[in-house]
Amino acid sequence: MYSECSKKISFDTEKQAKNAATVAKHQHGSRLKVYKCTKCQLWHLSTDYGDQDDN
Ligand SMILES: [Zn+2]
Repeated sequence: MYSECSKKISFDTEKQAKNAATVAKHQHGSRLKVYKCTKCQLWHLSTDYGDQDDN
């Protein structure tokens, strides 16, 4: 059991996660990154863009 993952919204598939990210973008204008968690093997959304060229 991973407590940090239980705090997050988890998705079984990438498609579900991307759908949720799209909804969030439309509703809140927030850009969310979809990633597969290496701990729980589920998909999470993150606002943390580690990549450059984001600002
Ligand atoms: Zn996780």
